[in-house]
Amino acid sequence: MFRKILIANRGEIACRVIRTARRMGIATVAVHSDADRAALHVALADEAIRIGPAEAAKSYLNIAAIIEAAKASGAEAVHPGYGFLSENPDFVEAVEAAGLAFIGPSAKAIRAMGLKDAAKALMEKAGVPVVPGYHGERQESVFLAGEAEAIGYPVLIKARAGGGGKGMRRVDHPADFAAALESARREGESAFGDGCVLVEKYMAKPRHIEVQVFGDGHGNVVHLFERDCSLQRRHQKVIEEAPAPGMTAEMREAMGAAAVRAAAAIGYSGAGTVEFIADVSEGLRQDRFYFMEMNTRLQVEHPVTEAITGLDLVEWQLRVAAGEPLPKRQDALFIDGWAFEARLYAENPARDFLPATGRLSVFEGPEGVRIDSGVRAGDVITPYYDPMIAKVVTHGRARAEALAKLETALQQCRVGGVTTNAGFLARLCRLPAFAAGDVDTGLIGRAGEGLLAEPGAPEEVFALAALAALGFLDASGDADPWGHIRGFRLWGGAAQTVFLEHGGEEHALRVTLLGSNLFRVEHSGLSTEIGLEASDGRTVRVAFDGHTFPATVHRDETGIVLFSRGHGHAFTRAEAAGHHGAAQAGGDRLSAPMPGLVRIVTTAPGARVAKGDALVTMEAMKMELVLAAPRDGVVAAVPVAVGDQVAEGALLLQLEPEEAA
Ligand code: ADP
Repeated sequence: MFRKILIANRGEIACRVIRTARRMGIATVAVHSDADRAALHVALADEAIRIGPAEAAKSYLNIAAIIEAAKASGAEAVHPGYGFLSENPDFVEAVEAAGLAFIGPSAKAIRAMGLKDAAKALMEKAGVPVVPGYHGERQESVFLAGEAEAIGYPVLIKARAGGGGKGMRRVDHPADFAAALESARREGESAFGDGCVLVEKYMAKPRHIEVQVFGDGHGNVVHLFERDCSLQRRHQKVIEEAPAPGMTAEMREAMGAAAVRAAAAIGYSGAGTVEFIADVSEGLRQDRFYFMEMNTRLQVEHPVTEAITGLDLVEWQLRVAAGEPLPKRQDALFIDGWAFEARLYAENPARDFLPATGRLSVFEGPEGVRIDSGVRAGDVITPYYDPMIAKVVTHGRARAEALAKLETALQQCRVGGVTTNAGFLARLCRLPAFAAGDVDTGLIGRAGEGLLAEPGAPEEVFALAALAALGFLDASGDADPWGHIRGFRLWGGAAQTVFLEHGGEEHALRVTLLGSNLFRVEHSGLSTEIGLEASDGRTVRVAFDGHTFPATVHRDETGIVLFSRGHGHAFTRAEAAGHHGAAQAGGDRLSAPMPGLVRIVTTAPGARVAKGDALVTMEAMKMELVLAAPRDGVVAAVPVAVGDQVAEGALLLQLEPEEAA
């Protein structure tokens, strides 16, 4: 076995690999960009080496720097994780040329599966069913249109080098084919430098079912059963599970055998996934599943397979790469129970899943479930990399139990400082079709808007936020947690008003002390009575409307985050939000008060503006910041554009000097 390995990745997967390596007594070397100097994977590894600036192209994709780091550290092997260089055959060759082992398949196997058209042709030869369609050499538009006609509409055009759902176009009518072909080609060209496409039958009700395979250098290939990844949003996986609902023993056998044939056909070694699409318009049928592609690496969703097999897939990868045979034969592998994984992201479902950046002021996962994460509280989610916060993995004896655990776990995830999809994921768990196991890739799309909107905070949460903002939930430092409340009592009967921003609106909350630990909070014409039963400054027991329940309170630089009854609610002090505008008053320029994304620009050079006009809207942390003209004048320059990620202090807009205006 290796004594030391280098992990050519970051985030949760780097942390995941380090954990297994450590358990096996293998030393680990992390690599990092400048943006990740203080990242969790760096802290967990035995040693860490800088490989370049924040941009992935210059660091995590920098083959020369990674090879140099591996050599300098004395590592014997390189684990690529997923993404980045994991499926780059040139990287594998560079690793091997440096005399190191690559923890993954051969460059040859990766190349064989690298292009969707060649992979399909290869699989057809190996007797693996492939999606009906054209995947040959010819690329003339007229010819492909004829093929589409022969396949029968609707069809799906796919860039052969595509990945991550890019370069795919569904076409319903022959009249739209030419335009869709052009746009798929353009996207393939710009994203992958390859404009060649294939044309497939578009499945009316598709399910994404993939099979985990493992090969070794001794001619053995096994499968570790299937995962269902049908819960997708725009062809991206959202929640995965294993096994697949409704799977019969015969169909599992058939899919497993096809996947093993696929891997054996390319002499596969290491962990791989054979992705199939199943047409379930007439239910899950053994004669309706087709090879889509093979991913020649560990998948994001590998933990659900680990949960139902009790195996450590990273351990298997390390053993195989070190030359050992597969630890188990097919007949020694069993499915135990059911598992789910949800991908918790820093993103805003209500805003078309816009990635969120900012400081993760709070991050606490629930106890008793597997959380794979590469970040901890205090870390910054940067715009440079995938904004995944964690993978939440649950296991139960039966599907319903595992799903109930997932929903509870998602509700117990406490994340503050950035917007997340936790509420969206929890709502998905409650979709009747999903709960019934009646999944297909269109399920999320059909479920509609109700999934996206975050419900506003209930009145008792507003009341609690007001008490928190006024300091009444704080422990007073000494032993007496009620010092503040006593202090409050001193100024007796008087009421105090606090302004908080929530859900993009400003709220005035008027707090009156009614009695011992009992308050009245008035807000938009409503009056709420709320009692505090106990408080240690962070966890409070709240009495409201005949119920008592716990809530936790976190503060960060932007305000307060309250977690209660399975929901997180963020409040910003309205004074704080207004403060940025004030700081900008006067002067000739608008600059970014914090790092963020430019969302709206309402003006252009040469335009005359009046003091107070909203000129640039930024999204920063979880807030929308409207930056207004500091004075009347003429716009000289707007050095930013919508969609730009800007640093704190970056110049957003410059006015002509006063005398010229
Ligand atoms: P990528 O490599 O970009 O991820 P895939 O070929 O793996 O592309 O397909 C991604 C997703 O697109 C699948 O999981 C499925 O939801 C959908 N899809 C792919 N092929 C078809 C098809 N022929 N019919 C319907 N949906 C498809």
